[in-house]
Amino acid sequence: MFSLIKEEDFKDSFSQISTPAYVVEEEALRRNGEILKSIIEETGCKILLAQKAFSNYDFYPLLSQYISGTEASGLYEARLGAEEMPGKEVHVFCGAYSEGEFTELLKYADHIVFNSPAQLKKFGKAAKEAKKSIGLRINPECSTQEGHDIYDPCAPGSRLGTTRQVWEEEMTKEWIEELDGLHFHTLCEQDADALEITWKAVEEKFADVLPKMKWINLGGGHHITRPDYHKELLKKILMEIKEKWKLQIYLEPGEAVALNAGYLVCRVLDIVKNKEEEIAILDTSAACHMPDVIEMPYTPPLYGAAGVGEKEYTYRLGGPTCLSGDQIGIYSFSHKLQEKDILLFGDMAIYTTCKNNTFNGMPLPAVWKRDMEKRMVKLKEFGYEDFKMRLGSKSR
Ligand SMILES: *Cc1c(COP(=O)(O)O)cnc(C)c1O
Repeated sequence: MFSLIKEEDFKDSFSQISTPAYVVEEEALRRNGEILKSIIEETGCKILLAQKAFSNYDFYPLLSQYISGTEASGLYEARLGAEEMPGKEVHVFCGAYSEGEFTELLKYADHIVFNSPAQLKKFGKAAKEAKKSIGLRINPECSTQEGHDIYDPCAPGSRLGTTRQVWEEEMTKEWIEELDGLHFHTLCEQDADALEITWKAVEEKFADVLPKMKWINLGGGHHITRPDYHKELLKKILMEIKEKWKLQIYLEPGEAVALNAGYLVCRVLDIVKNKEEEIAILDTSAACHMPDVIEMPYTPPLYGAAGVGEKEYTYRLGGPTCLSGDQIGIYSFSHKLQEKDILLFGDMAIYTTCKNNTFNGMPLPAVWKRDMEKRMVKLKEFGYEDFKMRLGSKSR
């Protein structure tokens, strides 16, 4: 998590910058890129960046040295991928496309995946005429995670993907022939064993369909760049699918591309007390700058800190907003926290910069890069205009 951080980095890098700020570590992104590239080279699969997890396009030229293209959740991300990773593949999946956006989408996307047979029938012909490769998202009805329905597209009542029952009812022979590929996305932060189980379910349910396809997209949720991920098992599964079914395989991880490649730097503004508890108020907010801490929820890693009671001084950390639930977690430290202390949260590249907000009028953190020479490079700063601009008609 913090393997690239040394104590002196606080003095040399982080204390120099205004907080709050996200810092993307180039070396970590390249390390992830190398792993993904080796999977591509050894198996012949293609790997796309799922932009909803990480769309800091200043890094697209770097990432394009390793991966095959981008995956989009709709028109805007498709356009971003086409503009900022030119020459690479652009794939799109959306729960439902609107008529207004579809024609424009045809300008940007190479692969278009539909969620339902109805959407396929509505837009499929236009996509084919524009020489696009088209696919249908299937729901293999196989959950490999429990208690996390918000991240489980196979949970009961899911709107994502076509079940075999719906396929039977709505897919005609003519439309099956038009299809180039199938897509499924069912995993979240999972290892290759979960993919193996899911692939068995796909084979069982759609064995008759697979020989008619050119490609299969295995979605995201593959935690490939996590140090203990079973890369050998992944490669084995990919080779088996490729040889048995003669399909071009796509993977579209978001998290794995920028896993552990970013930090959020902040400072302590005040320490308050409530009975026995000491609470540090920071210049960053969970609700605004790390929304997954509340939504997922999870407690992000904090450099130099440990869990409750492990070290001598325990603090609850929270943001300066008026939301009482704007809390990051409870951590312990070997020293007392003071105003102006710098704190460094890890795991802050994915689902952060693309998901933050200005609730409470909170300023947006700047975005920095720490390059291969450990130099800090400011990529983007935000101000009052970025808050006001979305709320009314005045342009400034
Ligand atoms: C979210 C998503 C991904 C990426 O998932 P990660 O968990 O970030 O790897 C890929 N494909 C689709 C369709 C998604 O919805």
